[in-house]
This record gives sequence, C-alpha cells and structure tokens, in this order.
Amino acid sequence: MGILDLFKLDGKTAIVTGCGRGLGLGIARGLAEAGADILGVGRALEASECEKAVESCGRKFHYMEADLKSQKCIPEIIEKAVAAFGRLDILVNNAGIIRRADSLDFTGEDWDEVMDVNLKSLFFLSQAAAKQFIKQGSGGKLIHIASLLSFQGGVRIPSYTAAKSGVRGLTMLMANEWARYGINANAIAPGYFETDNTQALRADAARNAEITGRIPAGRWGVPRDLAGTAVFLASAASDYLNGFTIAVDGGWLGR
Ligand code: NAP
Repeated sequence: MGILDLFKLDGKTAIVTGCGRGLGLGIARGLAEAGADILGVGRALEASECEKAVESCGRKFHYMEADLKSQKCIPEIIEKAVAAFGRLDILVNNAGIIRRADSLDFTGEDWDEVMDVNLKSLFFLSQAAAKQFIKQGSGGKLIHIASLLSFQGGVRIPSYTAAKSGVRGLTMLMANEWARYGINANAIAPGYFETDNTQALRADAARNAEITGRIPAGRWGVPRDLAGTAVFLASAASDYLNGFTIAVDGGWLGR
C-alpha cells in the first residue's frame, strides 16, 4: 500500500458530535472527502449544511438530534451508527461549550453544564464506542477535541479549563487501557479558530488584536485548518500514534 493510501477512509464510518457548524462541520467534511460515511450528532433539529457537504463527496450522511448535556442518549447514538452503516470505525468528540465569568463569581450551574458536555459525555460516548470497536474486533479511532486550555490555565473559564485539561488526561488513559484492542485515542487542541464559540472574543477589537498579534501564523484558524489532522488521526497513517494531544494552533503554544 502506498503512503497516501494509508490516509484514505474508504468504507469507514464515523460519528461526529457537534457536526452542524464550526469545527465539527469542517471535520465531518474532511472525513467524508477522505471516504468516510458520517453520523452527525447535535442539538439542532437538522444539520443541512453538513448533510450537503458529506453527500457532495458521494458519502452517506445520517443525523441524530441529541443533547449531550445528559448521557442518556449515548446508547442510541452508537445503535444508530451501527444500524445505518453496519459498523463503527471512528468517533470524533467535538461538541463543546464555554462559560465565561470571573472565578470569584463562577456558578455551580456553569461548572456542571460545561463539565457534563465537554468531559462526562466525551468519556461515556468513548466508552460506548470502545465497546463497539472491541465487539467488531478490528480496532477503532477516538479523536477528542481538546483546547489550548488543555495546556494553559486561561482566565475566566474555570470549568472549560478543567474539562479540556481533563480531556488531555483521559486521552492518555484511554490509550493506556485500550491500545491493546487496536484502539487509538488521540486529541486535537485547536488554537484560536473563527467559529460561534469565539464570536465574543473576536467582537472585542482590543482582545482580537492582542490574540492575533500573539499567533505566530498571524491569523486565526478556520475550520478547514483542522481537517488534515482529523483525517490523519482517523486513518491507518496514525496507527502507532496513541494518547497524544496535537496542537493545531498556528504556533501559539511554542511562543
Ligand atoms: P461552536 O461553533 O459553538 O459549535 C459547537 C458545536 O457543539 C455545535 O455543533 C453544537 O451543536 C454542539 N453542541 C454544543 N452543546 C451541545 C450539546 N449539549 N449536545 C450536543 N451538541 C452540542 O464551537 P466550535 O468552535 O466549533 O467548537 C467545537 C469544539 O472545539 C468544542 O469542543 C470547543 O471547545 C473546541 N475548541 C474550539 C476552539 C475555537 O477557537 N473555536 C478552540 C479550541 C477548542 P448545535 O449546533 O446543534 O447546537
């Protein structure tokens, strides 16, 4: 097999949470371009932009409306993927939220909501996918969307920092426990990307200029910037890469 063939995802099936917009949409499009069929998950009633993007690559798209604040929907997500495609090969845990407030005033509600979506559901959805991978007997790929806050402290986002630091730790733990089954667990830590999640930051002219000035690449990322790393981590090209969080940040962490 030639080296570029290792990156192909033909015949593979992937779940992408938060596929309707932002980074999840960019990742779903990238995986479909590489050959994967996609089950998208999100809170919205539909994900028509993602559906169009995946189908225009000649791949199949199914969607499940689910709120990952609770873990009740998790068994059904796996069942839907297996019913639609016959198997599951890749899980991208992308859905995530952020709450901003001074740590002195931070509420329990803002703590729980972020931890539930960004960390607890990520763990239990990965557990359910890993069980399916083990049942199939041919390994699988877990890809978590971490953050710069998996490496840095940040300000005014305590639950987000706790959750994303937890994602980096769990990525290593999952590799330690599940590599023996041919499962790879890796994470991508995006730098500053232009999505709804960063709308407030970008709208603040002073903060925007400060951030852009610190990014060695001199610009914010766009969802397309993540697709190559996602395809790599979903493919056989990364079979010996496990437990690692890769920063895709225009050089931010090296500064
Ligand atoms: P976004 O544009 O705000 O999109 C968030 C996505 O997550 C949406 O598709 C949303 O679904 C889904 N989602 C949120 N809460 C959910 C819930 N309770 N149940 C199901 N789906 C839920 O954010 P984004 O920037 O693309 O962020 C995607 C991931 O990257 C997040 O984990 C975020 O923390 C991480 N990240 C982003 C940046 C950045 O600069 N943008 C940097 C580092 C890390 P609906 O559309 O259906 O609501």
